[in-house]
Order: sequence, then structure tokens, then C-alpha cells
Amino acid sequence: MVFNTDEIQSFAKEFYNIDVLVTPLTGYDEDNFLLTSHSGKKYILKVSSGIRPSFLEAQVSISQHLSKSEISSFFQHHIANKHDQYITIYTDKNSQHTYCIRLLTYLEGTLWKDLNVWPDELYIDLGSFLGKLDAISKDIYLDAANRAYVWDISRAEEAIKNLHHIKDPAKRRLADYFLLQFETEVKPKIASLRHACIHNDANDSNILVKEGKVTGLIDFGDMVWAPLIHNLAIACTYVIMYSDEPVEASAIIVNSYHKEYSLMQEETDILYYLIAARLCISVTQSAAKADNGLFNVHHYQSEQSAWKLLEYWLTINPLKAAHTYRLACDPEPAIQPIDKQSQLKLTRRDIIGRNLSLSYHKPLTIIKGALQYLYDDLGNTYLDCVNNVSHVGHCHPVVVRAMQKQLATLNTNTRYLHEALTSYATELLATLPSNLKVCYFVNSGSEANDLAVRMSRHYTGRNDIIVLEHAYHGTSSLDIDMSPYKFDNTGGSGQKPFIHKAPVPDDYRGIYQGKDAGKQYAQEVLRILENLQEAGKAPAAFICETLLGVGGQMPLPDDYLQYVYRYVRQYGGVCIADEVQVGFGRTGHTFWGFQLQEAEPDIVVLGKPIGNGHPLAAVVVTEAIADAFNNGLEYFNTYGGNPVSMVTGLTVLNVIRDEALQENAVTTGAILLEGFKKLQDSYECIGDVRGKGLFIGVEFVKDRITKEPDAILADYIVESMKNQGILLSTDGPYHNVLKIKPPMVITEDNCMKIVETIESILK
Ligand code: PMP
Repeated sequence: MVFNTDEIQSFAKEFYNIDVLVTPLTGYDEDNFLLTSHSGKKYILKVSSGIRPSFLEAQVSISQHLSKSEISSFFQHHIANKHDQYITIYTDKNSQHTYCIRLLTYLEGTLWKDLNVWPDELYIDLGSFLGKLDAISKDIYLDAANRAYVWDISRAEEAIKNLHHIKDPAKRRLADYFLLQFETEVKPKIASLRHACIHNDANDSNILVKEGKVTGLIDFGDMVWAPLIHNLAIACTYVIMYSDEPVEASAIIVNSYHKEYSLMQEETDILYYLIAARLCISVTQSAAKADNGLFNVHHYQSEQSAWKLLEYWLTINPLKAAHTYRLACDPEPAIQPIDKQSQLKLTRRDIIGRNLSLSYHKPLTIIKGALQYLYDDLGNTYLDCVNNVSHVGHCHPVVVRAMQKQLATLNTNTRYLHEALTSYATELLATLPSNLKVCYFVNSGSEANDLAVRMSRHYTGRNDIIVLEHAYHGTSSLDIDMSPYKFDNTGGSGQKPFIHKAPVPDDYRGIYQGKDAGKQYAQEVLRILENLQEAGKAPAAFICETLLGVGGQMPLPDDYLQYVYRYVRQYGGVCIADEVQVGFGRTGHTFWGFQLQEAEPDIVVLGKPIGNGHPLAAVVVTEAIADAFNNGLEYFNTYGGNPVSMVTGLTVLNVIRDEALQENAVTTGAILLEGFKKLQDSYECIGDVRGKGLFIGVEFVKDRITKEPDAILADYIVESMKNQGILLSTDGPYHNVLKIKPPMVITEDNCMKIVETIESILK
């Protein structure tokens, strides 16, 4: 505070001719004082420096305008000084600094934030008061309010530049996600919304309540010319922090506002995003101020609650919010999905390949992804525990923005030099063992496996491939030939003579168990190699996943790959690690699955998470294999290695590192594994719980001793979990293994919820 209470007392006397006692109050960017006269009359005196006088004059104008309205008593009014001026300019003789002083009437009441209870009636009251206020504001234009102001939701995207002040990566991602949604869902509509001079800060420290009624709104210091709906959005943002049901509470306000002053559908439809955007402005402002060492309680008073509400907001399907707000105004619902879904199904059946499957007995129509959540067309939110492809989260803002920028810049092919190709390859190679030196970029895991095997054949001059039973490696003709999961099953054309199947190294229900299982299973591969040799042949390659996916979410037994790779190399074969499902930190303790086994492949195949859903995959090989492949035949891949894919891959790598997602896989994965193991103690039907990091399988059996698979129970659990808002699926040769491979941004709370929900179903 620039002036002490004695100075303020003398200002009051000198400028306003009143004798008062002075109590300093806090304020966001002005110094505020409570003045009390001898007769007990109270005033507020405001001292500002650095605020444009024209803007202060605009505040005087709005209060004069409102003083003529039926809601006059809700506002403070300006009191003129001895010279009949509402703004007193005071120049400090020593510093020559100029201050603007204003005297305002005092409003009795308790601030919203200081109440003990917030009954629905208060929300109703607030809505109708704001409706009345906006009905008046719509006719007011004040030039000084038409300004660039950080707290104007229209400018929410400017908060992006402050994101770096948020140190917790999970919080930064959350704010960034909602700012991206603002850009996507709101910004294009801003210009066409009704504008007015709005109060712009009906927050919990500015709303006054007396005897259970809203009685006042103070501080026009944030007034701005902006979409009218922002006023309501801002009030909702702050007051719903006090409700256990924020969407319902805001709908109460919307309803009573609409009764006073009609809202338009295009306004209520974006309210969800406006509330999120205002929260983002608030948390980024707090973070920036803290980073700059500023300490004013007002800068941080909403911070904790704002984060809590943002986290909760992510769990709300925006369609559900829009629907609730529409219903609060008009009975016409926003969600009319039934016909649309059956129509989609019919058209899909007619014109899309019939052997594409749909998940769940009643399929989902997913319309939007939000980090670890998915939203359907019915307004439901699902915690996604199955789409491992969205590795760093659905619509991760950093990835999306990088892709958008590169798409708007250039997308060509590898026939031109481009920095992104080599920088991405360099970064990728840095995560891999030093024997892996050369990258090939392709478009899918299938294409990558196909290429990997092709290269191993070039290198060895041989044809035969050793695979694991039940394995899946992709959808090209060669991949299907290498995938017993396909060729051994319905519609498959059986095992080709150049394919050799080794048993799944399953130490739960397989032929070997215990501490030597890894070596014993590896000796099964050795036997195949010996048999091949007897037949005068040798393998081109051995290929397996480094944790088995369709094989049943199974970590390999200790030392398995070390032995297998040693044997395969003894017979001149190439060792291919299919990391399509496993890689990029999912296993938590290591970045790559083969590192869990302390083994080094000759070729690694990468896919799925590599581009967070963008079609990108890679084959990384040794120098010698790359040389053998470079035999004069050009390798060209139209899309492989294009700038957009490369920027995407590079950004995904950066996000994994910057947000410590591998570490998150360790902590969240441990909660899941421990939780499931505890359930296993109580529920006989859980035969096995296994996994590493966020690659987890829970195997259901009818009998612990016989281990008879219980696919019906596994399926029942998947369906019931879906009904409770959690998406999972089953895997394994007997379809009895729950597959849990969530986006790596899943939280500890999410994991506890998963375990609790499964337990409630088992009960
Ligand atoms: N390898 C493994 C282990 C896989 O799980 C998959 C896909 N499920 C593939 C390869 C093929 O990848 P894509 O579907 O991208 O072609």
C-alpha cells in the first residue's frame, strides 16, 4: 500500500470533507480502504495508480447508469469530492507520481466465499440478479471498456504464453487441453456473439449476500466490452466451486438468468468451454504471478479450487453440459442420439468392410477425446483404459498444436531434405541401444513388421521365420502368415511351411513355470533351430513382442529373450523385437520392453503409441542390416517419414519426457497391480494378475486349480465396467484376460477408481 491510514484519513477530510477512521483492505490491483465516520456511516476509498483515468470514468458512468435502475441497491455508487468530481487526481509532491482516488458507498453483506452454506435459492437469486444486470448492460457502450484485457475470456488463448509457469506437468496439460478446446470450440464463434459492457468479474469475492439473498456486486474494475454470456460464465465459474454438483449448480443459475433475460442456444452451448477457459486464465495468472515472486493473497485465492474444478470439468462430457444448459432454458434436448446411432450402424454395415468389429454388445459412438477420457454422443464420459495408442492422452494439446502447425507449413516426402526427419531419428536412436543405428519410417505396425522381416531376409538370404503361438504382428499378407492368432483361427489359412511356432512362454498356465521357465521356454526355440538345421535350413528371423499383448498381457519370464536371442544368433538369424504395443515407457521401469530382459534385438519395430494416434511406425535396425537392405533397389514410402509424422513423433517423445509419463506409469501401474492382487486374495475367480507399469492383465478362471478360463466373466466385467464409465477389453487366447493399457496420463485417483469399480462388480 502506498499510503498509510493517516494519509488516507487526511485525504478523506481534504477531498471529501469527512472525518473518518480508516481500515486498510486488500485488493487485486487497487489499494482499498474502509472508512467509518463517527456516526457509523461507512465508505470505500480506492487509490489506483497505473489505471487509465478514462477507464475509471467509465466505471463512474456505469455506476451512474445502474443507479437509475431497479437494481440500483446492488451496486456501490461514486461520491463526488468537494469540487464535484468523482475522480480525485492526487500528485505526490516528492515522487511526482499521480494517483486517482475514488470514494464509493459501502454495501453491507457477506461475501459469497465467506458463507457457510450455499443453498439452491442463492444460485437462483444470483441467476436472476445477473439476468437483470445484463438486460441493462446490453444497451450500454463505454469506449474505455473496449480494451484488451487478460481477464476477458475472449482472449483466453493468450494464457498459453503463461503455461510454462505451471510447474506440475499434469496441471499444465489440463489447462493447455482446455485452452486448445477454447481455440477449437469457442474462438470461431466469438465475433458472432452478442456483446455488451459486462462486469466481467462476478466472482465469490465480489458477490454480496445478506439474509440468504444476493444483495450486491462490487468492483467494476474488470469491466470489458465482450460477449454478454461471459458475465454469466464468470459468475458460474466461481460460485460452482462451492457446490458438489457444479454442472447442476450452474444450470440453476442459467435457468433463473434465462427467466430474466433470454439466453441464446449458441451462448449456452459454449458455456462449458467458457467456464473452463476462465479457470485457465485464473490458474495461469496465479502461476505467472507466483513465478514472478508476487505475493498478494488475491492473486492466489481461487487457485486450489480452480484446479479442483478443472480436474472435475474434464470428467464432464461437454455434450452433457450443453444439454443440461439447454434444458435449463428450453425443453428441446441437445442429445437426440438413438436414430443417429442406428443409422450409423446401418450405413457402416452397407458400405464398410464387414469384418471390422465393434466393441461392446451395444457399441459406443465416441465423439470427443480428452486426455484419459472419451465422451460419447449420449453425454457419457468414459475413463479410457484400453486405447494405448493415445499414449500421451487423447488430443494432447502439445501434440495437436505441433501437428497443426506442421500441417499448415509443409507435408511432403523423404525425397526432399527436411530437418524433422533427421532430428526425430536422432532423438529416437538416443532412446535405443547403440547397436541400433538406422531408422525407416512407415505408416503402421503391420507395415513395419512386414518391412522388418523383409530386411531380415535380405540380410540372411533366408526365408524361415520363428514366431510365438497366438502372436499377432499385423495385417499384411506376410504379417498374417506370421500371426498364429490369425492363421490358426476362424477364416485363417493355416500355418505356412516357412513359419515355425514356439510355445508362448506362459509361466501361469504353460508347460514351464518357476524361476527357470525363461530358459526352458528358450530351449523350445532352440529345438526349432536344431530341427531346422537338421532339415538343412536356418531362420531369417525370430520375432516376438517384448511383453505379450494378444498372447494375454503377459510379461516374458526372466532371461527368456537373452537365451532366445543368443540361440537365434548362433544359428545366424536376426532377432526382431515387436514393440508396437509395449514401447515408449509403458512398462514404467524401462523405456523399451526388451530392456526388462536386458536383451538387445537386431531390429525393433515401433508403432501405435509412437504418433499418439497419427499413422506412424518405425523399423530401427543395425548398420549391417541396413547395408544389406540397400542393395540397389530404391526404398520409397509415400507417407513414411513425412514432416507432419516426424514432428508428431518428435513431440510425443518430448511430451513423454517433459511430463515424466514413464515415471507416472510406475506409480499408477503399481496402484493397479497392487489393487488387483488384493482383489485376487478375496476373489477366487482371479487366477492371475500380471504386468509391468501400465501394461497389465488380470486373468479370470472358473477354478484356481484347473485354471479353466472364464471368458464369460471377463466379458461381463468389461460390459459392466463400460456401464460404469470405464473402458476395458479382453485379450489372450481364451479371451479371459482383462487388458488394461490406459493412456499414460492416467492418474492415481483414476487407478483407485478402476480397482474399486471392479471390486464392486465382483461383489
Ligand atoms: N504388432 C503388434 C504386437 C500389434 O499389437 C499390432 C496391432 N494390434 C501390430 C503389430 C500391427 O499394427 P497396426 O495395426 O498399426 O498395423
